[in-house]
Amino acid sequence: MNTQNFSSLNLTDAMLKNLEKIGYKHMTPIQAKALPFILKKNDLIAKAKTGSGKTAAFGIGLLSNLDIKKFRVQSLVLCPTRELADQVANELRQIAKFAHNIKILTLCGGVAFGPQLGSLRHQAHIIVGTPGRVLKHLNKNSLSLQDLNMLVLDEADRMLDMGFIEEIQNVIDFAPKKRQTLLFSATYPDEIKDLCKSILDNPIEVEAHLQE
Ligand code: ADP
Ligand code: MG
Repeated sequence: MNTQNFSSLNLTDAMLKNLEKIGYKHMTPIQAKALPFILKKNDLIAKAKTGSGKTAAFGIGLLSNLDIKKFRVQSLVLCPTRELADQVANELRQIAKFAHNIKILTLCGGVAFGPQLGSLRHQAHIIVGTPGRVLKHLNKNSLSLQDLNMLVLDEADRMLDMGFIEEIQNVIDFAPKKRQTLLFSATYPDEIKDLCKSILDNPIEVEAHLQE
């Protein structure tokens, strides 16, 4: 059993205090393996099963690298479904409680487009969304990724299974080349390997099992 403490990482006191408050005492194995590299701004491929704590692995990294004073979209998390995007956004909001003013917005298909336009006009630090709807906002210029420095593909294998590859590529075409990219997946089929080659820069690969 891996029982590494979050305090072994280079996190702010406010972040550590809040993690304790929300009941995160020890890192899960995937968090212990991935976070040091994410905090060092490496590109990363992380493979671990459902329930292993992947959201906090990228979430703690993403929120630590955020410039809160700069009210622009700095991070984008792509998820396969609205339900998963909502789950990720909710967990990020828990972890983000170390500060008062971090704005996290979800942009998913299956909900009205108009209200999303209104929310985007008020800006956000972090967008969590599904590829199709995020792309629609990019094409309509209602979303800019000009200040993006972190892109996360969550459940990448499921996104490919659902046929999102083209949308994902198109979204990435709107993102700056100089950025950190993280890819999380439960499995690692050939299609994922191809996608990794084209969108990640010298990625570190980590893998963890629940029983570690
Ligand atoms: P995955 O994305 O790998 O399927 P999640 O990120 O959804 O897993 O995490 C599964 C559950 O574990 C969530 O309820 C989350 O709040 C909890 N969790 C994550 N990291 C920790 C931790 N370090 N300590 C305690 N609980 C955690
Ligand atoms: Mg997950």
